[in-house]
Amino acid sequence: MDFFKKMDMPQGQTDKVPTGEAEHIKCLIIGSGPAGYTAAIYAARANLNPVMIQGMQAGGQLTTTTEVDNFPGYPEGTDGTAMMEDLKKQAERFGTEVRWGTVTEADFSGKVHKVVVDGEKVITADSVIISTGATAKYLGLESEETYRGGGVSACATCDGFFYRGKDVAVVGGGDTAAEEATYLANLCKKVYLIIRKDHLRASKAMQERVFNTKNIEVLFEHNTLEVLGDGSVVQGVKLLKRKGQADEAEVEIKVDGFFLAIGHTPNSDVFKPYVETDETGYIITKGKSSKTNVAGVFACGDVQDHIYRQAITAAGSGCMAALDAERYLAEN
Ligand code: NDP
Repeated sequence: MDFFKKMDMPQGQTDKVPTGEAEHIKCLIIGSGPAGYTAAIYAARANLNPVMIQGMQAGGQLTTTTEVDNFPGYPEGTDGTAMMEDLKKQAERFGTEVRWGTVTEADFSGKVHKVVVDGEKVITADSVIISTGATAKYLGLESEETYRGGGVSACATCDGFFYRGKDVAVVGGGDTAAEEATYLANLCKKVYLIIRKDHLRASKAMQERVFNTKNIEVLFEHNTLEVLGDGSVVQGVKLLKRKGQADEAEVEIKVDGFFLAIGHTPNSDVFKPYVETDETGYIITKGKSSKTNVAGVFACGDVQDHIYRQAITAAGSGCMAALDAERYLAEN
């Protein structure tokens, strides 16, 4: 989901951001995934009185998964949405003000940073922590939506465990797809890697790992037509082989899991006029810090990390951002 798209406020929530004159605060946190909430916990405990603007997908990407088994501290695993609720409560316990809303404009040209929430409410802040995350790309098939949470996933590290001993498919030919396919090959009986072209885009080293893994079958020149299932769980995938060629044919494979690895879109568009990003849009942070090129503006979580992309690494970077903001405010 696009973090910056506007959506209707859910029932029972009120937008507490005052209209009219700008409200000035010490620390603004934009985005409510593990990075944002961890930043909020630390910032609140440091008396920065943080205000969090939750964004379009309150709770972030974890609310789109079911079980979270790899976050330390939960021996029995936990539910993604429940975990985000716990993080929210923890942030609020120390005084974070969590507000519904989406940042639609930002002006980081001055010492005081200005953002507009939902196109109308202005907040100025001495420090800003951007934790808007990234959005996994999907193919856009209706059947993908039907089986999200029922076998369709965009995170092998998060959900692969549930497919131990089963057959799965991964779509994509980049480094992520190659990495996810080899990760899944350790757990699953068989992994189909579905590539639309006749070659992989992944680095040579990653390609070799894929080709040297016996239980990965690479299906070159295959496009996904439909995810098949019984209405609640995935049972297979319908593919179009060699699209547009004389021997074009529809084929079906039986799988229990269908993993998308066709890239992510970092939710950084609104900040791009001021904050430096790489060519894909990931915010560039300086060295081992959360500092962006704008003094007083910090970034953490998936919006600045295209490599690890885990809840725990996002949370760690959220802590870093709050500590960096605290030091910045003390020095300025
Ligand atoms: P990439 O953009 O590199 O690759 C996306 C892949 O998905 C491509 O093979 C692309 O196909 C395919 N794809 C895109 N859209 C579709 C579609 N609609 N249908 C079918 N296939 C599709 O994304 P990654 O997430 O793999 O990597 C992002 C960046 O992160 C890269 O720079 C990568 O090197 C880096 N990375 C580094 C890692 C590491 O160093 N360990 C690990 C993971 C990522 P096509 O080639 O036909 O366009």
